[in-house]
Amino acid sequence: MPGPEQQLPDLAPDRDPAPGHAAARTEDCADVIVVGAGPAGSTAAYHLARTGLDVLLLEKAAFPREKVCGDGLTPRAVKQLTDLGIDVSESAGWLHNRGLRLVAGRRTMEFDWPELSAFPGYGLVRRRADFDELLARRAAAAGARLIERANVAGPLVDDRTGRITGVTARLGDDRRPVSYHAPVVVAADGNSTRLSLAMKRYRRTDRAMGVAYRTYFTTPRHEDRYLEAWLDLRDPTDPAHRLLPGYAWVFGMGDGTANVGLGVLDTAGIDLDWRDLLRRWCDALPPGYGYTPDGVTEPIRGSALPMGLNRQPHYADGLLLVGDAGGTVSPGTGEGIAYAMESGRYAAETIVQALARRTDRGRELALRAYPQALRSAYAGYFALGRLAADLLGRPKLLGAAGAVGLGRPALLKVAFRLVVNLTEPNSKDALDRLMHLIGRVAPGR
Ligand SMILES: Cc1cc2nc3c(=O)[nH]c(=O)nc-3n(C[C@H](O)[C@H](O)[C@H](O)COP(=O)(O)OP(=O)(O)OC[C@H]3O[C@@H](n4cnc5c(N)ncnc54)[C@H](O)[C@@H]3O)c2cc1C
Repeated sequence: MPGPEQQLPDLAPDRDPAPGHAAARTEDCADVIVVGAGPAGSTAAYHLARTGLDVLLLEKAAFPREKVCGDGLTPRAVKQLTDLGIDVSESAGWLHNRGLRLVAGRRTMEFDWPELSAFPGYGLVRRRADFDELLARRAAAAGARLIERANVAGPLVDDRTGRITGVTARLGDDRRPVSYHAPVVVAADGNSTRLSLAMKRYRRTDRAMGVAYRTYFTTPRHEDRYLEAWLDLRDPTDPAHRLLPGYAWVFGMGDGTANVGLGVLDTAGIDLDWRDLLRRWCDALPPGYGYTPDGVTEPIRGSALPMGLNRQPHYADGLLLVGDAGGTVSPGTGEGIAYAMESGRYAAETIVQALARRTDRGRELALRAYPQALRSAYAGYFALGRLAADLLGRPKLLGAAGAVGLGRPALLKVAFRLVVNLTEPNSKDALDRLMHLIGRVAPGR
């Protein structure tokens, strides 16, 4: 991966002003192009547009559009939403939750989200069709030029330098071909990220890859104030019913239904019919959940969870990867929205600094700081998450850890906060110090 220490382009040393700002503003030219208006892309576009940059936000679908998800948001995501100036009150249509309920065998434990200096003490639930449209419109209100039904087909590349200079796209029903130009492009096109692939950013096979499936069913528990995760997820096709490295969830949506799903956090060597597994798991829910196959309101759908920063480099040749495109899903929990939004914001901050530089060399130096920003923020936590996922797949180890932890509520609280990545940055608390120590010593790859 190129790092700041590597050779920078030998270009005009003092070209002034920066091309991003100087480019004649036409419909198809911008300072920055963001491809994909999911949580990562809309957050990036919002923070870029707020600084006055001309941002094109290209989205292949038309809002509102469905996105397969568990719809659960932790306090990390709440912070990002608040930073976008979005009203997250219940009167604005959000269901607030107090924390996480873990069900392990016959035991049930409730953990409240901690109230921290950086994060609020509550989480949220909201359907993605609604959620994603809200974020995209927020980016547009901040000044980003949102173009829906703009299906990006590929990059425009300068043959001489190998740098991306824009994208080609097909617009609307008639799929009219168009080209857009910008000196910096952000790939926020999700897990399949055709744009990254076209720029030869392949997936690292040494990183965990997860999978998740979900549906909805009508339930009297739709206003549950805890996100509920069941750790005892087993392989029904295995004679020994081996424990899988993942969990199943039931998140009340507050509208008469619950989102029910399962996520397996490391699928290496596991090949199962995930839809069938989810159906069987739902059939075994206790009667109080009111689950019946007739009460299922949507088809079972799922997709891959790209984890642990598994697509790299996150910056090269004018292209930054954010969210699922860059593999920012947590390998410990499968949480992706907060990290998609955070990475979108890191990318925006990097680009704003870069486009304010006076030379190409200065711009490149600034842009190359982005991968390091991601590593500093996540390497430690993701390494820990990988360990947690390993533990979930090893019944003996999990049993031993459970036996040690169950009699010690303080220890369980520590484990909970580590796994959900909610610690106090500058506190004297032993837990927070431990977390930051892990962050420093974890392999920063
Ligand atoms: C079953 C399931 C349950 C999950 N549950 C949760 C959960 O409860 N909480 C949580 O935090 N995370 C959850 N996740 C993960 C979360 O959904 C993702 O991490 C998150 O959506 C990533 O956001 P993103 O903006 O990077 O990508 P996406 O949300 O995938 O957005 C990408 C956008 O790019 C657009 N796009 C794609 N290709 C093109 C193109 N060629 N041209 C233009 N636009 C394009 C797409 O239409 C889309 O709008 C779950 C995932 C799954 C599969």
